Amino acid sequence: MNRARTALVIGGGIAGPAAAMALRKAGVEASVHEARPGTADGAGVFLTLGSNGLAALEILGADARALEAGFPTPGILLRGGGGKELGVSRISAADPVSRTLRRSDLYRAVRDEALGQGVRFEHGKRLVEARDTGDGVTAVFADGTEASADLLVGADGVHSTVRRIIDPKAPSPSYGGLLNLGGHARGVKADAEPGSYVMVFGRKAFFGYVLSPDGEVWWFANVPCKHEPARSELEGISADAWLERLKGLFARDAGPAVRILEATDPSDVMTASPLHLLPHLPHWQRGRMVVVGDAAHAPSPSSGQGASLAVEDAVELARCLRDVPNDPLARFERLRRPRVERIVKAAARVNSSKAPGPVGRVLLEAFLPVVLRSAASGRQVREVYGHRIDWTASAA
Ligand SMILES: Cc1cc2nc3c(=O)[nH]c(=O)nc-3n(C[C@H](O)[C@H](O)[C@H](O)COP(=O)(O)OP(=O)(O)OC[C@H]3O[C@@H](n4cnc5c(N)ncnc54)[C@H](O)[C@@H]3O)c2cc1C
Repeated sequence: MNRARTALVIGGGIAGPAAAMALRKAGVEASVHEARPGTADGAGVFLTLGSNGLAALEILGADARALEAGFPTPGILLRGGGGKELGVSRISAADPVSRTLRRSDLYRAVRDEALGQGVRFEHGKRLVEARDTGDGVTAVFADGTEASADLLVGADGVHSTVRRIIDPKAPSPSYGGLLNLGGHARGVKADAEPGSYVMVFGRKAFFGYVLSPDGEVWWFANVPCKHEPARSELEGISADAWLERLKGLFARDAGPAVRILEATDPSDVMTASPLHLLPHLPHWQRGRMVVVGDAAHAPSPSSGQGASLAVEDAVELARCLRDVPNDPLARFERLRRPRVERIVKAAARVNSSKAPGPVGRVLLEAFLPVVLRSAASGRQVREVYGHRIDWTASAA
């Protein structure tokens, strides 16, 4: 492939705008093509952007809005359902400190930064097909329009279309056995340090909460569910019904879960969604097409790293396009795969500990402190959260 001068980025979530900014920094003119007709304001509840993700955004000159929209989140206190303290896990490097922010605020932050840097966005552009023409690539959208460039970057999330175009035999993301939902509560006392999470391995489900600086409690629940429910089935369950169900699930656990749920207005509850994982994708790239972010490697939300890895991908892809004359996409895959798959694997272990059953729960409470000690060790925290990309170093 000759040096790419232009790129079509498919997907305007987190990886997409970040990739477009990074590519521009490397001298590749990139535009973003997003399926949704409008912006993602209001999508999902909240997430953590790790120190490593913030540092990658800083390289793009795009960290200010995310820093401003979030609050510092240094760690997690883990408890058993009986109230026993199981340990403390650090989820941040010293500088910058990881941030918790509403998902919609992060989407808006990266999009606004990209727009400010001159990236062009096109909405209502759902990619359905892409053709490698040898000297370029042509994207075909559901509305019948087409666009062409030297390169196509699939930043189209966990249910990626680009992934399947690159490799029709690519595995589909698997259902992780948990439903996720969350919300916000006001006027309730929660025994927590502002900014740090408390997470409870409850008897029947997993509950996490964090106190925001303005006194709101942001919470989420992971509810074990053996078979993946259809989207229509989940949409048919009202927020009121979910709140009642969750109160029942957490009734026997120590801690403020039930009080938090009672203080939650149903309009502040996010619709439940099944958790999907994509632990290993055999081919990240082919010819003039490549996938980044969740399209390449969707870790469980237990990793707290999905968004951060997506931004890291963007910066590394740009570095490879800037520095590697032959097969920069293959170099990108080789550079990223080991780190990403290590993090995805570790998160899958945490995921399975969220629904262990009664016997597993006793073992969990006995062994989690040991696991945590290793996860919170300086080396592990440094590897995940202390990871820094050197933009000035050559990727060749
Ligand atoms: C409940 C939950 C909690 C999470 N918590 C955390 C956390 O604490 N920390 C963290 O780092 N990560 C977390 N994550 C993961 C994080 O949200 C994702 O890893 C991150 O959003 C990945 O960014 P992305 O841009 O790759 O994908 P997405 O954000 O999913 O964006 C993909 C975009 O592509 C668009 N698209 C899809 N198909 C097409 C198409 N055919 N054509 C054009 N556009 C298309 C979509 O509309 C979307 O806008 C969580 C995820 C979930 C579901």
